Amino acid sequence: MALLQISEPGQAPDPHQRRTAVGIDLGTTHSLVASVRNGVAECLPDAQGRVLLPSVVRYLTDAAGATSRQIGFEALEAQLQDPQNTIASVKRLMGRGLRDIASRAQLPYELIDKPGMVAVKTVAGEKSPVEISAEILATLRYRAEDTFDDDVFGAVITVPAYFDDAQRQATKDAAQLAGINVLRLINEPTAAAIAYGLDNASEGVYAIYDLGGGTFDISILRLSQGVFEVVATGGDSALGGDDYDRALVDWVLVKAGLAADTLTAGDKAALLQAARGCKESLSATDSVAFSARLSRATVQFDMKAADFEAVTAGLTQRTLAAVRKCLRDAHLGKDEVQGVVLVGGSTRMPQVRRAVASFFGREALTNLNPDEVVALGAAISANQLAGNSSGADLLLLDVIPLSLGIETMGGLVERIVPRNQTIPTAMAQDFTTYQDGQTALALHVVQGERDLVADCRSLARFELRGIPPMVAGAARIRVTFTVDADGLLNVSAKEQGSGVEARIDVKPSYGLSDEEIARMLQDSFSTAQQDMQARALAEARVDADRMLLATRSALAADADLLTTEEATDIDRLMAALAAVREGGDAALIEAAVKALAHGTENFAAGRMNRGIRLALAGKNIATV
Ligand code: ADP
Ligand code: MG
Repeated sequence: MALLQISEPGQAPDPHQRRTAVGIDLGTTHSLVASVRNGVAECLPDAQGRVLLPSVVRYLTDAAGATSRQIGFEALEAQLQDPQNTIASVKRLMGRGLRDIASRAQLPYELIDKPGMVAVKTVAGEKSPVEISAEILATLRYRAEDTFDDDVFGAVITVPAYFDDAQRQATKDAAQLAGINVLRLINEPTAAAIAYGLDNASEGVYAIYDLGGGTFDISILRLSQGVFEVVATGGDSALGGDDYDRALVDWVLVKAGLAADTLTAGDKAALLQAARGCKESLSATDSVAFSARLSRATVQFDMKAADFEAVTAGLTQRTLAAVRKCLRDAHLGKDEVQGVVLVGGSTRMPQVRRAVASFFGREALTNLNPDEVVALGAAISANQLAGNSSGADLLLLDVIPLSLGIETMGGLVERIVPRNQTIPTAMAQDFTTYQDGQTALALHVVQGERDLVADCRSLARFELRGIPPMVAGAARIRVTFTVDADGLLNVSAKEQGSGVEARIDVKPSYGLSDEEIARMLQDSFSTAQQDMQARALAEARVDADRMLLATRSALAADADLLTTEEATDIDRLMAALAAVREGGDAALIEAAVKALAHGTENFAAGRMNRGIRLALAGKNIATV
């Protein structure tokens, strides 16, 4: 839809007026910022011409106690000399509690357990992963503003497809702290696919193979009607280019006859640095000189690409095993994949390219720089969202990985937003009260595919208070789930008659790992039958409780209407219902509910008559 532009009288509209929008790849190892200029997406270099910014932040204090920080290359260089205050790979900490961080033992800096998200202890005080990431984001924002001599209107920031609500929220918070208006968070594999223009390609399944510095991610996307759906994600969060460096160092040590325990920390760092340089050169040439100066010796010899390939073949194979597993999760054969995209600096290695091509039986797309492709795709989508692109309004949609719903009576889940619903979305459902005179409603928001709350993940709880007292079932409470373009959830509940309302932003403190999501989905497929039975039973129990409660309160008020036999009859029916309610047979419970309903029909009629008589007592017809 085009908006009509109206200019001030006497002033020509500026045809070149555009809003500076950028795409940011906030990576574990490197981060980049890109933008669309003259219709072409490109990564923006720093003053030294480098597009990659190492995702490393160092905190310092001077003698007077003033604190400062170094970001990027400067921090990277200082890493060895000041490991406790130099934070690398902060992305692994985003939105995570201490228990969620598998690699915490290997981290050179100290983590502090905090409710919700860990913090890092530094000389400049405790730093939240959100603050540390904000330093990186702000650096990229300034780079863009210097390049364009203009404020950045907004940014699209990429996150791994498996990032959950907590990790996405933390990323958004970091952007806000860096003064960046987030146009949208999009998934890294989706961004890579966009960079290759696959959103205009033929519909079907695409695989995005992303081997970075410390992580390997494989994502299967399905394109339909210009929209990418993440079908499955997998990978290994402890496998990346760094492992190739380490494998090379181990091999060099054996060749040079050096024992690892005789090396100083400086020696190890020098070897790793040499290995990395050697590895990167071998992506372009067949042989290169390996050279590292250690404290007691200098290691030097010619390294052949074939040797490097042989010592790292096991690592490459491990990535393929993860790809195979991901395809299995997606119930897809590799011949059903119609395009493969390579992402991440480590996919520059020719042996990786060959292995991927032979696995899929097709050449992968590689004509864009693999370490830039995510940022480029983010820039393209930022440009569209800022309204700069002249082309058709391409919809950039993502989907919800797990269903969202609320707990209803009996510990059951009522799903409100189904899994794979494209976002942004808003969906509502009406609920009612359970007891007469109930003035508050407890809402429990859950995520998952199972029918029982106990099998799903609890996201948030809140209460709606101030409902006017009414008989059970008379209140109409509309519960609305709104998921914004970044996948963040807001739930509101409104009593329609009185207008009382309560709402909550769901910011879960702990995230789900991709394994957990996969497991929860798997569970839901394999237990659908069991869930149906459990649901029937839980529903029957809710009916039973409601019936027992209503009968008890009726007896408390109007037992004098009953003859002794009638009262015994009702007692007997109630006891029978209470007994089967504890059993596991939904049909028996339903039968007992019916029997009690039937056995109390006369009593109910009698109560109704008395109610009418009381209501009319002392009033004449005109005032009724
Ligand atoms: P991340 O997504 O984790 O931030 P990147 O995509 O920037 O990481 O990848 C960084 C990794 O890519 C490092 O291990 C680096 O050594 C490796 N890499 C970069 N260039 C090359 C190259 N030419 N050959 C082999 N590996 C490379
Ligand atoms: Mg990356």
